[in-house]
Amino acid sequence: MGTSIRAPRGIKDVLPPDAARFESVLKEAEAVLALGGFQKVLLPLFESTALFARSIGGATDIVEKEMYTFLDKGGDQFSLRPEGTASLLRAAIEHRLVDPSRVIRLSYSGPMFRHERPQAGRLRQFTQIGAEVLGPLAPSDDVDLIALIHRMAIDFAIPSWTLVLNSLGCPLCRPSYRESLVSYLVAHAGSLCETCHRRTSQNPLRVLDCKVPSCQETLERAPRIADHLCPRSRDHFQNVKNGLDGLGIPYLVSHRLVRGLDYYTETTFEFVSDALGAQSTWAAGGRYDGLTAELGGPDVPGIGFAAGIERLWLLREKAGTLPGPEKHPVRITVFAMDTNGQVASLDLVRRLRDEGIPASGHFTAGKIKSAFRQAERDGALFLAILGEDERQSGTVQVKNLETGEQTSWPLKDAKKLADMIRQSGG
Ligand code: ATP
Ligand code: MG
Repeated sequence: MGTSIRAPRGIKDVLPPDAARFESVLKEAEAVLALGGFQKVLLPLFESTALFARSIGGATDIVEKEMYTFLDKGGDQFSLRPEGTASLLRAAIEHRLVDPSRVIRLSYSGPMFRHERPQAGRLRQFTQIGAEVLGPLAPSDDVDLIALIHRMAIDFAIPSWTLVLNSLGCPLCRPSYRESLVSYLVAHAGSLCETCHRRTSQNPLRVLDCKVPSCQETLERAPRIADHLCPRSRDHFQNVKNGLDGLGIPYLVSHRLVRGLDYYTETTFEFVSDALGAQSTWAAGGRYDGLTAELGGPDVPGIGFAAGIERLWLLREKAGTLPGPEKHPVRITVFAMDTNGQVASLDLVRRLRDEGIPASGHFTAGKIKSAFRQAERDGALFLAILGEDERQSGTVQVKNLETGEQTSWPLKDAKKLADMIRQSGG
């Protein structure tokens, strides 16, 4: 016997009944995006590595060390997608959906891949839903998108959530901020960790994101982007805050929210929850006004966000708002007691399925006891038994496994049987 092969590290199999529930969690989140006027795009699972390097940025954690990159048989370099925005923008540009005079709202969902250290709420294959708005945008578009995620927080009863908000400024004001941040970080290098040192030269804004306790005091006192925003960016941020105030959506401004990706400008935000422990962010996003042009499209503003479905699951589990497992995914188990009953059983399950009743047939002749065990394994509400006697009389014995009630049905009458199954609860 061979040794068994296990799933790769950081990969989670989702089994019944959780798989169906997971899909419900995904569908319910997607429904909120549809409510927001977003239309879904189906995107590939891998893209040219260059797409991610150019959009996410070469000095980011994702591109530096988290991507699953491979050469295909033709020698081209591809990466499994670590996020959705790059792919969605690539597709929108390639198919000329981006229009400088009109707004388009697109969404996506599906698995993303990052080679990270697996832990609770952090997987190597995880599921995101995301949405992007492209076109002539106002600060109110930022608010409208945030309001949609706020709707999820409310609808799904996310426990103890906080909306954290910041502005990263624009290409006009960020360089001067970056400069003053770098001089501060260099002057205080002695009280910062190794990672902070490396980031100071490569991606200084990311230093603000450091979670190492001994770095905190120094980083709290670092120069703040808010003090460097140009009038336009300051206005933009003020308008976003006014909009949120107007809608009564509470937020916390944090000068240290920088996000991991290079493409963000102006508004950035995260929805976090204490209930998640260390991996506290369940949805995050922001403006990326230069990105479509950077990827070869028209120069239009954009804003988007992504939410992690596994983390939404954990939060909804904590809140007790997960969709329940379906009690009887199989409504009826049809069991042939002997080889002579095979065709009649096959015909019965087929006719029940014709009526839309989920039916599972079992054809390996056995004892009555194994028929019950099989029905239990199927999660069926009813068990139909076809033995010698039944075949002789052209009937089938159907037992409701919850009430114990047993009835004999003419085999010809699959439709009536189906009606009875449909009408019974359980
Ligand atoms: P984190 O700070 O948790 O590393 P991130 O900034 O890398 O998150 P984004 O790239 O913004 O995350 O992705 C958006 C959302 O996708 C996150 O808020 C989270 O819910 C989810 N997510 C990201 N990485 C993972 C992962 N490795 N496993 C599970 N969910 C993830
Ligand atoms: Mg990350």
